Amino acid sequence: MNQPSKTTSPRQLLRRLFVLAVASSMLVLGGSIFGIHWVYQRHVITNAEMDAISISKSILALQSHFLFKEQHPGQEVTDINIASLEGLDFSLAQFLTPFHIIKIKVFDRNGTIIYSTDKDLIGLQDPMNERLHNALQGLNDSRFVVKEKIADLKSEQRFDIDVVESYVPIFNNQGNTVGSFEIYKDVTNFRNDIRIGVTLSFFILAGIILIAFSVSYLLIKKSASQLSLAQQKLHHMATIDALTGIYSRNEIISLLQSEFENYKLNLNTPAQSELSLVMIDVDHFKAINDNHGHPIGDKALSTISACIKTKIRNVNGFGRFGGEEFLLVLPGETGETSKLVAERIRQAISELEIEAEQQLIKVTASFGIASALPSEPDYHSTVKRADNALYQAKNSGRNKVVLYQDL
Ligand code: GH3
Ligand code: MG
Ligand code: MG
Repeated sequence: MNQPSKTTSPRQLLRRLFVLAVASSMLVLGGSIFGIHWVYQRHVITNAEMDAISISKSILALQSHFLFKEQHPGQEVTDINIASLEGLDFSLAQFLTPFHIIKIKVFDRNGTIIYSTDKDLIGLQDPMNERLHNALQGLNDSRFVVKEKIADLKSEQRFDIDVVESYVPIFNNQGNTVGSFEIYKDVTNFRNDIRIGVTLSFFILAGIILIAFSVSYLLIKKSASQLSLAQQKLHHMATIDALTGIYSRNEIISLLQSEFENYKLNLNTPAQSELSLVMIDVDHFKAINDNHGHPIGDKALSTISACIKTKIRNVNGFGRFGGEEFLLVLPGETGETSKLVAERIRQAISELEIEAEQQLIKVTASFGIASALPSEPDYHSTVKRADNALYQAKNSGRNKVVLYQDL
């Protein structure tokens, strides 16, 4: 049986939708989780930066006499008093620990480290440090980093630590930047919070997507199978003749067309083969309708087509061409061999007895045969010649088989 034209079936559409939905869900899920993680991390960074600002303000408030040097006694302070920084150690150690601060550096206005809880760093410069540069311009700047190894305030090595590094500018009394703090806050304790938060969000989101997707999928699947059934039904209706169960006119013509194209393609090749048509028309069928009624006429048509089917090898080449006309498409059969097939069918039909009321009706049919010719451009002229032969069969008394070349 011919396949329906190559359009996307509901099942294929459903499969595509499934792939699309899974891909987009993963994208949405991935994007959301990344977003949630980012928001959490921003939250941790912002908090750590606020802590760093408070700490630096406290240090400045508590230690201003250490930190700033007066140009002249009683006048405005203008710069960091490097000599006094050593005094910081004691005071810092006292109150930094509860805030999870693990390192503090103080840079002077030229970007040189003038104080650090890690003494090895004092005196070093970091001229390429953009963030320090920003801080020396008066801007706070914080970022999240994971340190594989870092020495804490007690000079103990710590490993795999999440740190927020904040640069907080130091202003003198006149509001000018005279240096910057760099404060390292240990935020490793938030790592678990972030992990739990992100995992929870992942499962909640994934659950929502899964439920929404499953419900939509089931609904669409149901509609798709209904559509598929309707499609199959329509296809069946378009290709199969409802009364006889054989091919409809459209279908047998499209089969004939493709067989004719094959015939033409194979001409002059080793695959060259014959193609013959047998046109069958029931004799005096109108009289059956007139004498016994339309339903009996219908019964006669289905009995005749069932009888023809039993006499042919390939039922695929058999269709209802018109009201009481049938067409046999016989690829590989010559006019002569088709004549034998037709003769067998003619005989069988003539032996049929169709029950009508309390009566048995006899029927006969006439046959016109034509074989495709290499010179013929399409199947139409072959059909026309088969029709001519059928006309001759009718004219010569009906219940006859006529081959076009016999004319
Ligand atoms: P001929 O021997 O010359 O073919 O005569 P005929 O009566 O068979 O041919 P004609 O073309 O005069 O009549 C064909 C009839 O077939 C007319 C139409 O009502 C009938 N017919 C066509 N389709 C159907 C059908 O599906 N069912 C029934 N019961 N009759 C049909
Ligand atoms: Mg007819
Ligand atoms: Mg007829």
